[in-house]
Amino acid sequence: MTDEKSNLFYQSRQPRPFLDRAEGIYMFDETGKRYIDGSSGAMVSNIGHSNPNVLAAMKAQMDKSTFGYRLHFRTESSEKLAQKVATLMPGDLDRVFFVSGGSEAVESAVKLARQFAITQGEPERWKVISRFPSYHGCTFGALALTGYDPLVHPFAPMLRDMPKIAAPTCYLDKDNLTDEQRGLKYAELLRDEIIAQGPESVLAFLMEPIGGASTGALVAPDSYYARIQEICDEFGILLIYDEVMTGVGRTGKFIAADHWGIVPDIVAMSKGFAAGYAPLGAVVARESIVEALLDAGGFLHGFTYAGNPLACSAGLAVMEEMERLDLISNCAAMGEILKVKLTALMDRYPFIGDVRGKGLLLAFELVSDRDTMTPLPKAYNAYLELVERAYERGLIIYSRRTRGGVEGDHILVCPPLIVTEEQIDEIMAILIDSLDAFAEQFDLQVKAS
Ligand code: PLP
Repeated sequence: MTDEKSNLFYQSRQPRPFLDRAEGIYMFDETGKRYIDGSSGAMVSNIGHSNPNVLAAMKAQMDKSTFGYRLHFRTESSEKLAQKVATLMPGDLDRVFFVSGGSEAVESAVKLARQFAITQGEPERWKVISRFPSYHGCTFGALALTGYDPLVHPFAPMLRDMPKIAAPTCYLDKDNLTDEQRGLKYAELLRDEIIAQGPESVLAFLMEPIGGASTGALVAPDSYYARIQEICDEFGILLIYDEVMTGVGRTGKFIAADHWGIVPDIVAMSKGFAAGYAPLGAVVARESIVEALLDAGGFLHGFTYAGNPLACSAGLAVMEEMERLDLISNCAAMGEILKVKLTALMDRYPFIGDVRGKGLLLAFELVSDRDTMTPLPKAYNAYLELVERAYERGLIIYSRRTRGGVEGDHILVCPPLIVTEEQIDEIMAILIDSLDAFAEQFDLQVKAS
């Protein structure tokens, strides 16, 4: 296609080439240029592109039916997918409500929590405490729970303000605490906030178990997770995990909660769920929550496309491919290798201040001083510039600003879970070339390796 004015618009005017085809971890534009999908799109394409088994399953579903409204029919693909998810989730997280994306999943999780409180005779519970920074979606409800200033601020007067506590910023804390103490210190912020808000008014606590794009894969100290669950239990507050980015294998476990043996009350998932083959997300809740709602007359919520059989056939085939190829184990193994290689970059580039994450949800943060973790000057727009240097060289990576979205730059390196060690080397070679070009652009020190 030619470069005529487009009728389409998204966030900005940034020009991008037409995508021609994609296969595995590679994507090709219309000129034939090859890109490595080093961020799985937006941490979506977990099993890689154009997987033939997923395409065949979708085609088989298409040949049968592409839509059956859930109030008129049950469909085999949605039933089977829900069953599969229930077997993979911990504890009694057995009931699944399908949606089409992450924001919808978060909204649905919160509405489910609210209606559950009403069934329990606690209608005064409505406040959802979340964290800053965080990202939970762009719809009004999810935005009110998001801590990312540039995205929230313009809409703030239209939102119902919800309480926020600081998310653990372990790498920035220059204190004398042990990791365990620091985790507990951050968890206590939740207890303090619940008491300040009035425990009887607090409905739920919403958190990303590993920070996504808003923090750049920030993992809290281990002690944080169990203490948060204890605090929620103490006050009868529902614990909602936003696993939209971390779920379905991305961190080396089926959901990130599994790293700490946590069973949240409600989990929101999307992105890797149908891995980009169809728009799909889910809310998974404890049996007791769902049964209470159904006994009380049902869930007052639903989207037209919820449980769409074509999307569910894609989701089911993705789950089957993940099992057949043992992709969660590959993710854990390749994640270790990639993290070691990213960490080694700190020797060459003093402007890399921190490397973090789990599985293949990995990121590094750019700084002008590693000891003080002072960010690079805002005006550099380093998070955008480095992504462009890599894009020019055929590597797609993802970036955002760490400190509330206003400054601090991080880069997420999150290839599909099918990535091999040789492909990690390919990614690293282009990344190093891109970091060299970026350093030259801003006159940043590079040490000979
Ligand atoms: N929650 C988290 C943790 C996310 O990372 C995202 C998207 O990046 C969302 C929610 C919103 O998902 P979507 O963009 O599919 O609405």
